[in-house]
Amino acid sequence: MPKPPTHTDPIVIAHRGASGYLPEHTLAAKAAAHAMGADFLEQDVVLSRDGIPVVLHDIHLDSTTDVAQRFPGRARQDGRYYALDFELQEIRQLRVHERVEHDASGRQVVAFPQRFPVEPAMFHVPTLAEEIDLISGMNRSTGRSTGLYVEFKAPNWHRQQGYELVSAVMSVLEEKGYHNRPQQVFLQCFDDLSLRRLRHELKTPLPLIQLIAENDWGEDSKVDYDFLQTAEGLADIASYAHGIGPWIMQIYRGRDPSGNAVLSDLTSLARQQGLLVHPYTFRSDQLPEGIHDFQELLDIFIVQAKVDGFFTDFPDQARAYLQRRRDQR
Ligand code: CA
Repeated sequence: MPKPPTHTDPIVIAHRGASGYLPEHTLAAKAAAHAMGADFLEQDVVLSRDGIPVVLHDIHLDSTTDVAQRFPGRARQDGRYYALDFELQEIRQLRVHERVEHDASGRQVVAFPQRFPVEPAMFHVPTLAEEIDLISGMNRSTGRSTGLYVEFKAPNWHRQQGYELVSAVMSVLEEKGYHNRPQQVFLQCFDDLSLRRLRHELKTPLPLIQLIAENDWGEDSKVDYDFLQTAEGLADIASYAHGIGPWIMQIYRGRDPSGNAVLSDLTSLARQQGLLVHPYTFRSDQLPEGIHDFQELLDIFIVQAKVDGFFTDFPDQARAYLQRRRDQR
């Protein structure tokens, strides 16, 4: 298996772009994250009806676009509007806004009230190809080499619907010449079978990250995420992947009676297997219980847990933190 890239500082992965400041997965959010000096920009990818990879967090369009107003009557029986039911030229007509969720009574609730307003919705859903062009273009104009961090969303669900997400995404990476840049591209997925296939069948040279959910989140994979956090599970991951992407609360377990942060043994077990650890998601406007500010959060994960990188909605604050640390050394 090819070696993963090495970095001196933990890498800053812009989670859905600079999504703390601009609606997630818009080219505006990606351009901002690039300008803020993120090392990698994240792409969550799903397919349109005509099989085009688009950058969108959900398999649904309704939490971040005006699809319900623009295409009334196109929801499935569950009331949701699926990207897979829309041609790319229809998805291009949508306006993207800040994430809204629906509460039990069906009322719209803004997910992050302090962030960019839901109106005006002036943004679009980019294709993966367009986003790669943006990043390549900015790399050229700035002289940086900001990378891609691509997630395959719900590959098993796509297959049940008759679509091969992994192949479609890998074709775009190949078209754009990113299929053989292991220093500049990470691939991530919650589904272990897709990662095993990438490693053993498609033989990608790109580093693979096994994302770790909680079993009750309803990810579309049959994997047991409790098992993946054991020494045995991590040894298995190390046979096909270069690292893990755990949820921050799988590492940070709160405070002990004297106020010290309590950490699980996940990072040390992963390190014993030579796995990188890239936890998600670091948000200064949604801190875990017992943590008072972003610096404290980063201290716990970077100084204490010594993670290799992290997903954040606020790449500028992460970059500033790492710079302060560097200045103190
Ligand atoms: Ca993601």
